[in-house]
Amino acid sequence: MTRDNPSPRHVAPHEFAFSTVAIHTGSHPDPSTNAVIAPIGVSTTFAQSEIGTSKYEYSRSGNDSRERFETAVAALEKAKYGLAFSSGSAVTAAILDSLGSGHIVCGHDVYGGTHRYMTKVANHKGLQTTFANLTDPEVLRGLVLANTKAVWVESPSNPTLTLVDIAEIARIAKETNPKIIVVVDNTFNSPYVSNPMALGADIVLHSVTKYINGHSDVVMGALVTNSESLYDILKFLQNANGAVPSPFDCFLAHRGLKTLALRARAASDNALAIAQYLASSSSVLAVSYPGLKSHPQHQLTYKQNRLDAHGHPFSGGMISFRIKGGAVAAEQFVYSTKLFTLAESLGGVESLLEIPARMTHAGLTEEERIRAGVYPDLIRLSVGIEDQEDLIWDIQQALDKSVPMISAASMQLKDEPEIDSGIGSEVSSVMY
Ligand code: PLP
Repeated sequence: MTRDNPSPRHVAPHEFAFSTVAIHTGSHPDPSTNAVIAPIGVSTTFAQSEIGTSKYEYSRSGNDSRERFETAVAALEKAKYGLAFSSGSAVTAAILDSLGSGHIVCGHDVYGGTHRYMTKVANHKGLQTTFANLTDPEVLRGLVLANTKAVWVESPSNPTLTLVDIAEIARIAKETNPKIIVVVDNTFNSPYVSNPMALGADIVLHSVTKYINGHSDVVMGALVTNSESLYDILKFLQNANGAVPSPFDCFLAHRGLKTLALRARAASDNALAIAQYLASSSSVLAVSYPGLKSHPQHQLTYKQNRLDAHGHPFSGGMISFRIKGGAVAAEQFVYSTKLFTLAESLGGVESLLEIPARMTHAGLTEEERIRAGVYPDLIRLSVGIEDQEDLIWDIQQALDKSVPMISAASMQLKDEPEIDSGIGSEVSSVMY
């Protein structure tokens, strides 16, 4: 990289730190005008001076805006290849379709849409899924079958923020059968907080809709890999299925990822402060945040997450907690916040909250929800980058408005069957 020609082709992604890579990779001045920000490549087709020799031919198959984003996201995940899709779900579909028929093992508490594709679409194509709690990686040994093609994990999981030891999962998977592909959905952490490729993953995927874009204005997905053969088949499916992002969305997501480090650090700092506040509140039954010392897998964050200058891990912006007063208090809480907006999705600059049992995870049966720890009183926070004291004020005032209702609510609810959460009246950081 020289001053006059800061071409990304001269940037060795691994030589520079995260933000330098984010800002420079795939971002070179437009050679025809020297515009520092290259124009959005809106053309659907490309003039060919000679048949079959052009870099781009038709925009679904490839275009400059998408390639710039793909190069950048691969660099941030420390991978050779990147591919962008029209949504995180389209990435999931492409990966599962690439496996053909057979069997996979999947963490039991993955994103509901991932569960849905595995149980309602991929199964009809001959791919069966065993869902299992993989917090003890040794469990995997007993689940691998002769036709097992992949292990799929999400860490932290949605919405319970349980962690999986990715290096151990990869080691055991490869020991059992070296051909098994380890797929990690790194959406919740973002490439700033963790890089699962370095822990042994074969494919890392993202709902770019979340932290990578970071501004709640693009639906998009991406995957990265170091394997040329996996890249070839997934690129083929990207074109064949046609679930590609628009150049405009690629531009926005590429612009978004340039500030990922700043956003992820601010969200992690805010989330830790809020998790500590919740853990100290008498209105709260339990808090799950991997950055809390009392999180059952807190030690894993030292192994898997980026550490700050003081050696403390960044743990991302997602928190879930159980409010005292059950579903009634949870509903009152989400209607009482002034800054946290009641909405699905996550990873934007603005703080959001939701009740997974009634929103993102409503598609699971009640039994499945309880098994996964998605209780009716569970609230999920996506902590944004607003000022910390304002966010804590918001949580505090909403707790004050919703938890005094407990006594009235519990009288109304006394005839309803109680769910045994196994949690007493003390605030606990161990939720599940
Ligand atoms: N993976 C995770 C962890 C998610 O939370 C989501 C969506 O919420 C997806 C994948 C799917 O992404 P998209 O909504 O971009 O299709």
